[in-house]
Amino acid sequence: MKRKFKSLLAISLTIVSSSMYVSCENEGDFQKEETHLSDEIVSAPKEVLMINGQKIHVKKTATEGKYLVENDILMDISQMEQYYKPDAHKANIGQIQWRNIWPNKTVYYQINPRLRHRGIINNAMQIITQQTGIRFVNSTGTGNYIDITSNIYGDNSSDIGMTGGRQELSLSSASLGIAIHEFGHALGLAHEHSRSDRDQYLVVDDKFWDKPFYGYSYGAFDFNSIMLYGSIKLSNGNWSFVRRSDGQPFRSATDSRSPRFSHGDLAVLRALYR
Ligand SMILES: [Zn+2]
Repeated sequence: MKRKFKSLLAISLTIVSSSMYVSCENEGDFQKEETHLSDEIVSAPKEVLMINGQKIHVKKTATEGKYLVENDILMDISQMEQYYKPDAHKANIGQIQWRNIWPNKTVYYQINPRLRHRGIINNAMQIITQQTGIRFVNSTGTGNYIDITSNIYGDNSSDIGMTGGRQELSLSSASLGIAIHEFGHALGLAHEHSRSDRDQYLVVDDKFWDKPFYGYSYGAFDFNSIMLYGSIKLSNGNWSFVRRSDGQPFRSATDSRSPRFSHGDLAVLRALYR
């Protein structure tokens, strides 16, 4: 039973991640698509932590003391206390006030040799280097580096920014868009749908996503951001999680044929890595 639950959980998490539908090229076709999302994910058990007086929904991970926040961000309690601090994002480029940025625009990494989709991961790093000038250098497993692997839950997740020492980036989906999204977190990007101004542009299902408590906004809201999740069609036919403010569903840029950082994503990265 336990084993069955674990595999269901893994599948659900993978489905959510692969359902980050991106900006719509053909809304008509999209409306007919099935995403096979299980309703279970909406009611998936979550734990509630009180962080700086606010309720934060989290899931435990296999790593002691680490939680999944906002579906795919890894944080421990002290990181959450920084992230959800009232004045953490006061300045426009508030994201850099607490986040550790990779020095010299250089990210060190290792890829677990057992990962089958190493080509996709290498492709993602090439695209990011072309777009941003940020270099990826093979690590010897010392100092600060990203260990790219697929964790036992089969999810896609990352810390935000450089957290010091080894940090894990799990990429279980063989998706270029999701790889770029997770690298986006590792470089310091947060979710576009967690911006403080997101309610002007989106209707977000609060069963699924905490309201941004303090939030951050840099530049204009960007529907092309690869850090923006898209709408999810439930098995009952309803669209869930997130829609445009006019009620229309949309896809996430992670699902694009040639996924990459948007102009808005690049503006934040330029601010972080100037
Ligand atoms: Zn994410």
